[in-house]
Amino acid sequence: MHIAVVGSGYVGLVTGACFADLGHDVILVDNDQSKLNALRKGEVPIHEKFLPELLDKHRGKRIRFSEDLQSAARASEVIFIAVGTPATESGDADMSYIESVAREISGAVDSYKVVVEKSTVPVYTNEWIQKIIRRNGAHPEQFDIASNPEFLREGTGVTDFLYPDRIVVGVETERAAEVMKNVYGPLTSGWYYGRNDAVPRPDRAQTPPQLIITSAKSAELIKHASNAFLAMKISFINAVASICETVGANVQQVCEGIGTDSRIGPRFLNPGIGYGGSCFPKDLLAFRSVAKESGYDFRLLEEVIRINEEQRHRFLRKVRSVLWTLRGKRLGVLGLAFKGGTDDIRESPALLLVEELSREGCKVCAYDPAAMERAKEALGNGVEFATDAYQAAKGADAVLILTEWEEFASLDLQRLRSLVKYPIVLDGRNLYDPALMAENGFSYYSVGRPAALCEETASRGAKKERA
Ligand code: NAD
Repeated sequence: MHIAVVGSGYVGLVTGACFADLGHDVILVDNDQSKLNALRKGEVPIHEKFLPELLDKHRGKRIRFSEDLQSAARASEVIFIAVGTPATESGDADMSYIESVAREISGAVDSYKVVVEKSTVPVYTNEWIQKIIRRNGAHPEQFDIASNPEFLREGTGVTDFLYPDRIVVGVETERAAEVMKNVYGPLTSGWYYGRNDAVPRPDRAQTPPQLIITSAKSAELIKHASNAFLAMKISFINAVASICETVGANVQQVCEGIGTDSRIGPRFLNPGIGYGGSCFPKDLLAFRSVAKESGYDFRLLEEVIRINEEQRHRFLRKVRSVLWTLRGKRLGVLGLAFKGGTDDIRESPALLLVEELSREGCKVCAYDPAAMERAKEALGNGVEFATDAYQAAKGADAVLILTEWEEFASLDLQRLRSLVKYPIVLDGRNLYDPALMAENGFSYYSVGRPAALCEETASRGAKKERA
């Protein structure tokens, strides 16, 4: 099929590259000329596993890049809108990018097309897009709107897209449903999974995925409700972790005990410094706003947001209580991205913590495997950047683990121990077994688990104080 994907960011690029791998002809559209130039030259502007390989495989064959939205729309049967929907000051989703794309598409509707919302949008957006396209001259018989929310997670975007738990398609006509079934046919029929050159199957994948057809409004709500539920799970376990800290229980054991209940499940029960990223924070605000407009006061969402913010402050208090004063302390920070596997720093709790610690006078030396460039732009000169985790830790009063990168979970602990000034690790992602850290000579503080205190730290600290 001929498909246009408007917006070549995290979602658009992955969607376009995966559709090409399914055998479709894809035009990836963006209005950021520098991004398009980079893509045409073979560069990949985001860090996403398997994306470079897919773009290399299909660039110039099944994938083209364009700044000309109207030509791309004219040449396509299906047009996916994957532009940003950031939060406005009031918390509503800013729909101006979607509106401007819809207006441009209206001038290109010269044969039947399905215009698909891939961006995360509030309920009723499908009706607005339809109105805008009609208002600008397109014949109502010539197009339909579909909602096809995207559930990929950054870092595993490609495999999430190709091996999804389910595909949700919201439509109002049979004709649009048929088109969307054809778009995803290579996945739902299982054809893609039989191919030798398919992107490798992740462990948990169940294939072929179920296609869930709903109304457009239901599909829009499914996305907001899913993200709100997942954020709620994170805040729930973070609240439980706080209680564990107070009473001296171990949240890891609690998670095992509740996560093995099949009604609850173990995933997203990872206590830490809270969720971040470009989706959960803004989508929760937008969903709360949608609820309010519909006359429902969804206070549960406010509490989810409050717990999430409190979690970060709680970690900061922990750093203060371990180091006593912060001014002049040297901190080795491991992780800046909002989660492992991505270079995305939008609403990253790690970045927010680094900013706060710097404000309080700490000297931060940070390292992240993928997000350094973006973090440098955001943090400026106030922070030092290291070339690896060990360099970040060199001479540190304490090491802070703020992002759950795999490489931070398998550090050479003896090497780390030999580099730091004091063997203190504050782990905001619970990557290590406290007993192992103590065996390796560290005082180790994590989230919702008893601290592992090392004698050596105490005596060294005491010696220094006496001196
Ligand atoms: P992004 O900021 O990475 O990408 C958006 C792209 O759209 C940018 O490249 C921008 O230049 C382009 N753009 C903006 N206006 C345009 C226009 N008029 N014409 C052409 N291009 C235009 O955003 P993203 O993270 O890919 O998110 C896109 C949408 O998908 C959002 O609604 C988001 O909530 C949703 N979503 C994101 C994720 C995720 O993990 N990032 C997951 C699921 C859903």
